[in-house]
Amino acid sequence: MKFATKAIHAGQEPDPATGAIMTPVFQTSTYVQESPGKHKGYAYARGKNPTRVALEKCIAELENAKYGICFSSGMGAVDAVAKLLKPGDEVITGNDLYGGTYRMFTKVYANFGIKFHFIDLNDLNNIKKYINANTKLLWIETPTNPMMNIIDIQACSKIAKEHKLLLAVDNTFASPYLQTPMNLGADIVMHSATKYLGGHSDVVLGALCVNDEKLNEQLFFILNSCGANPGPMDCFLVLRGIKTLHVRMDRHCFNGKRIAEYLRTHPKVEKVNWPGFTDHPGHAIAKKQMRDFGGMISFSLKGNKIDEAFKIASGMKVFSLAESLGGVESLISHPATMTHASIPKPEREKVGVVDSLLRLSVGIEDVDDLLEDLKQGLS
Ligand SMILES: *Cc1c(COP(=O)(O)O)cnc(C)c1O
Repeated sequence: MKFATKAIHAGQEPDPATGAIMTPVFQTSTYVQESPGKHKGYAYARGKNPTRVALEKCIAELENAKYGICFSSGMGAVDAVAKLLKPGDEVITGNDLYGGTYRMFTKVYANFGIKFHFIDLNDLNNIKKYINANTKLLWIETPTNPMMNIIDIQACSKIAKEHKLLLAVDNTFASPYLQTPMNLGADIVMHSATKYLGGHSDVVLGALCVNDEKLNEQLFFILNSCGANPGPMDCFLVLRGIKTLHVRMDRHCFNGKRIAEYLRTHPKVEKVNWPGFTDHPGHAIAKKQMRDFGGMISFSLKGNKIDEAFKIASGMKVFSLAESLGGVESLISHPATMTHASIPKPEREKVGVVDSLLRLSVGIEDVDDLLEDLKQGLS
């Protein structure tokens, strides 16, 4: 089946009891057993819930993976991967990670004796310099947040395989519609379904996809043992959101392109970061591994004044000033004081998160209204 059909039908069938076309919200904590241990595959809802199972199958099919496991949040999914590690293990990851992942790695798991290397993944030769016998995991995000750098997934997978590392790809920014890391050799694909998969800014949920049966069992064991399971209503909301993922993504990409091109010609704008530009350093790889370039854009201002960035961020009328991304509504944020505030100034500036940087999550409103709003906001 093709993507659009899978988005609507994968993992779902009319409810056998009633014919309801939508997967019911199985709001239950436990399931009645016929005799001790004899049940229909469901014993207790931390372990398994039918609404969640439908969502897990759906996300797995979209990611071209055998197994999907859903968590109460994207961070819950990252946490489960980190729990595969032991004290002494080492992880190689990028230096412009999602702030929450950076915080978990440095403030939680570093305390458990796991060592993290945050390196520039634009040059993949860097990776090999940090690999040793303790290295277990290569964790990447692409495109990165908020600089929109592109990391070569296939090249990372080659290095990971050579050195027997697990390659995990946070696919939140691209969504499975634009990028399928499993096809490029990833071992684990992670999602904050809070963003594009859910798509309507009304739910927090995370997911992991894997092909390896043993890895699936390990991750499921962690979910069931540690309890970061999502509620059935949240699973329902993401299932419903995914039904329009392909349609929304097409519009996010269309609007994103128009806005990136507009900003680039604006006299107040210093630099626009969007992988669709042919002179973006990652453009060739983006073309190879993505189906389109998405609706995430960041840009800096000439003069790099923080108060000017604040004025723009607070003066928009259609774009809302908020963290998060991937919803139908357009958002603007100021990474240096919002999503990336926990990263020391010299470090964030090194990767390009300067004081005047603004990030847009371009929604699916009429693009003319969005352009008009940027014009007034930047005037
Ligand atoms: C939001 C986000 C996360 C964390 O997901 P939550 O659902 O907020 O816990 C992880 N990675 C990326 C790239 C994100 O944008």
